[in-house]
Parts: sequence; structure tokens; C-alpha cells
Amino acid sequence: METTTSALLASGSQMASGEMRKNPTLICVPIMRDSVEEILVDTGKAKASGADLVEIRLDCLKNFSPHEDLKTIIRDCPLPTLFTYRFFKLGPSLIFCAVLYRPKWEGGQYDGDEKERLDVLQLAMELGADYIDVELQVASLLVSFITILELHYHFIYIPYHLSVKVAREFNNSISGKKPEKCRVIVSSHNYQYTPSTEDLGNLVATIQATGADIVKIATTALDITDVARIFQITVHSQVSHVPVIGLVMGERGLISRILCAKFGGYLTFGTLESGIVSAPGQPTIRDLLDLYNFRQLGPDTKVFGIIGKPVGHSKSPILYNEAFKSVGFNGIYVHLLVDDVAKFFQTYSSSDFAGFSCTIPHKEAAVKICDEVDPVAKSIGAINCIVRRSDGKLFGCNTDYVGAISAIEDGLRGKDNGSGIVGSPLAGKLFVVIGAGGAGKALAYGAKEKGARVAIANRTFERAKELANIVGADALSLADLNNFHPEDGMILANTTSIGMQPKVDETPVSKDVLKYYSLVFDAVYTPKVTRLLREAEESGATTVSGLEMFIGQAYEQYERFTGLPAPKELFRKIMAKY
Ligand code: NAP
Repeated sequence: METTTSALLASGSQMASGEMRKNPTLICVPIMRDSVEEILVDTGKAKASGADLVEIRLDCLKNFSPHEDLKTIIRDCPLPTLFTYRFFKLGPSLIFCAVLYRPKWEGGQYDGDEKERLDVLQLAMELGADYIDVELQVASLLVSFITILELHYHFIYIPYHLSVKVAREFNNSISGKKPEKCRVIVSSHNYQYTPSTEDLGNLVATIQATGADIVKIATTALDITDVARIFQITVHSQVSHVPVIGLVMGERGLISRILCAKFGGYLTFGTLESGIVSAPGQPTIRDLLDLYNFRQLGPDTKVFGIIGKPVGHSKSPILYNEAFKSVGFNGIYVHLLVDDVAKFFQTYSSSDFAGFSCTIPHKEAAVKICDEVDPVAKSIGAINCIVRRSDGKLFGCNTDYVGAISAIEDGLRGKDNGSGIVGSPLAGKLFVVIGAGGAGKALAYGAKEKGARVAIANRTFERAKELANIVGADALSLADLNNFHPEDGMILANTTSIGMQPKVDETPVSKDVLKYYSLVFDAVYTPKVTRLLREAEESGATTVSGLEMFIGQAYEQYERFTGLPAPKELFRKIMAKY
């Protein structure tokens, strides 16, 4: 493995930017095309994108002439090649399993003779392939069936001996014929779940026993904590010098595809185009290289991220990774799709996982998992930033409060040209908050602190009342809001997700009443101009976008994460693009 990786890295270890790469983890672009011509076009694109190798999915080829096509691909491909020939075969009694658990894209397209399939892989090897991939679970439908039994009856029996036999027989059949440079990857795919650490350890040993040069294990994340087990076996296997490709499929498994560079994974997949994936959850190669700064990740890279559900829309990774890069800070910031905050922190408890932003719907639950909470955040009852201190303790605080209130104050000062206002321009104003969640609490608390009179409207009226009692405000139902105009010149702040992508046509309040407000703020920042802000502007109000709050709260988080001053100009420049 060492030789192959070093050989592959020899030409690419110095990146175009002049920077040295800090990890040997390879980036492989999967190519699933109908014709050899299209494959070769994509291999050129993969090279131009900075990939280390390409995976050619032979099962996607139409009119495949093995000898001729393999020769052409190997000869003309500008990058090292990995050949995969996935089968998709249905036995009549097991169609049920396939329909339930194996959507078409997960399996391959090949449904011919098994021996011919393995012969093609052997031929690829003989013609000069750098890697070939042979599945451990060759009898995959049988395994699927047994997995169903396992899932439904907790009956653990995986017929590894069958799979091992086929993979081992294949390895035996090629022994002595295998060119020095070719590496055999023996792969196992689990499309249902991620087994226990013990079972994964056994699986690694089972795959090694087939004579594999490289072990590949792809599982499915039902929870983001499943990924930790794959990290564990990847790190462990490194100690025993077994190259491992450990990847976890699905959105909850995304970090496995990025942080494998930190934990010593052999390879990750990056696609040429977003959404055109060979397995669920694959990022694009552009994102790996530009957004996540993949080449610069190392064992000592600190991990930061945004915890939420949903979370994929968040722009925070763009902002923080770009800022980290600008000052050479050794950190990475990722999307973390978390279902259970407590379980997440129990699992990722090492100092490697250093800081977190916290968004919908975890801001309140996260307060409970912190060892210490800043007093302001405690009064608000919600946090949006968690930092792991050097003693391992978790400290939580709320930077939404500062970010939002100062953006609104700036908006009001701008409106009055800043003249004649002493103290906060919010003092004495009637400030209406829509929403009583984390952001709602921060806004209500912040406005009150600045001397505003506060009213809170929320879908769940009880929550509005509860917050109103704590802050010293009035409570309204959402429906009341459309008839609420005790005075002119009020301030409105939407802190719900109404109007957020993809439901951009929604708005929390009727346009008719917006004329009673002098300033309207929307915490939603995707899109930048929501329907609420558009209608507020048409009604003559000053508008403040959630992007301003986002930038403001991010300054403070960045400083807490890194101990460095936030690059404010850079933040504004980056966010201006969105
Ligand atoms: P949260 O704690 O989960 O609170 C969500 C609030 O929205 C609750 O009051 C909830 O009402 C209400 N809500 C949700 N869906 C609704 C619907 N369909 N109709 C009516 N009300 C609804 O979330 P959060 O952290 O406060 O975040 C809220 C929003 O602010 C999100 O869109 C988030 O992206 C945005 N935000 C932006 C920034 C920024 O920097 N710009 C920072 C933080 C948050 P119930 O009580 O009835 O459930």
C-alpha cells in the first residue's frame, strides 16, 4: 500500500497552490457512463479537478467489449484506474429484499454470469489497472435476506464463510498473475445500518483473510454517532498497517467522507457533479478540495461544525473554512446532521471535536449538555455556540443575541442617519418577536435589555406565554398578529423558519399590517431576501436581513473557536456572494 500511495502522491504531493498536502488519503472520482468516449471525457475532468484516481463503473457501460474497451480506458485515462463491476441480480424469492433494501443505484447494473464478471476484473488487472474492486458480499441477496432476519429478529448470523470463499477463491485464482502495481480492494457494503465496533473489527479480519490488499467497508448511517465506529476501525487498522477505506453512506455519514483524511482512511470518493453519486452522501470533489480544504487535514486538525436538523442549508462551513484557511488555522468546519444532542456529545467526546455552532432544533436541548453556560445564555435558555475547553469541559454561550440586536440597531441608526440618538435606538420602541424558540428568546431578551417593550407571537401560544412571563412581555397567538397594531413605528422580528428555503413563498404575517412597522427583521437568511422582507420593503419599512445577524453571531463564535480576531472584512466578502 505504501508504495502505491507514495507513487500516486509523487506527482501530486505539491499542490497547484504550492502548498504541501498533509495527508495521503486519496480522492477518487466515480465515473458511471454509458460509453468509453464519455468515460474518457470524465477522466479528463477528474484530473483537471485535482483527483488522484478514478473509479470506472464497468456495469454502467452499454455494449461493453471487455478486451478492447479496457485497453482503451487504461491506455487513455490520465489518472490511475480503479475498476468496479457491480452486479444486480434478483432471485425470484428475494425480489422482496431487493425492493425493500436495495434501490437500483445502490447495487450495480450487471446481471450476467458471475464467472464472466470476475474474469473481466481479472482482465482489467492484467491489462494494467491500478486497482480492482471485488465484493466480499458476492452472495449479496442472501446477505440482504439474512440482514432482514437480523434486523427484525435480532438474529445475528452473517454467512461470511460464503462471501469469504468467493473473494478468497478469486484472490487465489489471480495469485501469481497479479502485476506488482495492481491492488485488490475487497469491499463490503451494508445498505441497512452500521454494525457494532466488534462486528466491524471481525469484518476487517474477514476481509483481510481473503488476501485483500485493501479493505473497503461502506455502511449506512442511521445516526451520526454510527460514523465514530468507522473512525475507530480506521484508526485501529492503521496501527496494524492494514489500509482501510471506511465510509458511511447517507447524509448522517457525510463526515466519514471528509474526516477520513484526519483518521487515516486510504481513499474517499468525490463526484464531478453534485447529485450524480455512486453511493448516497458523496460530496463533490470541488467541495472536498475547496470547501473542506481536504488536502490540509491531518491527525491534529481540530474539528468544528454546525449541529442541526436540517443542517445542509447552512452556510457556516463556507464561512469558517475560508476564514481558517486565510490565517492557516488548523481546523475544519463541517455540517453535522444530529438527531440527539446528548448522544452526539457522549460519542464525540475527545478533544479533536473542539467547537460547535448549534441551530434548529437543538439550541435549548444543548444547554443541558454543557458543563458551564454563560449567564446571558442561561437567562435566554438557549445556546448557539459550544466550545470544548482544554480540560474537556463544554462551555455554552449565545452569540445570536449580540448579532441580531446590533444588526437591528444599525438598521435603525441608518434610518435616522444616526443623528440625535443617545443610547440604543430600540429604547421605548414596541418590539414584536415572532417565534419563541432559540432565536426568539435571544431577540426578546436582547430587545428588553435595550429598553424596548416586547410582544411575543408564537404558533404554540403556551410557549409565547412562557417566554413573555420570563422576559416581561405580552404574548400573542400567530393569528392575533394580523390584527395587532396598537401603534405605528413598531419593530417586527421573525425568528421562525417560515419563508426559509425551500418554502420561500411562505410568510408569517399578512402584508396589510406591515405598514405599522418601521423596521422588519427576518432571522431567515436563505434566501437573503425573504417574502416577508420583500413585502416589508414594499410597505415602506426598513429591512434587515438574517445575513446581518449571521455575520454578527459568527464573528464572536470564530473568536471563541480559534482565540483569534475574526476576519470581518473576509466574512462580509464571502457572505456577499450568497
Ligand atoms: P427553534 O428553537 O427550533 O424555534 C423555532 C421557532 O419557529 C418556534 O417558535 C416554532 O414554533 C416556530 N416555527 C417553526 N416552524 C413553524 C411553522 N411552520 N409555523 C409557525 N411557526 C413555526 O429554532 P431557532 O434556532 O430559534 O431558529 C429559528 C429560525 O431562525 C431558523 O430559520 C434559523 O435558520 C433562523 N436563525 C438564523 C440565524 C442567523 O444568524 N440569521 C441565527 C439563528 C437562527 P413552535 O414553538 O410552535 O414550535
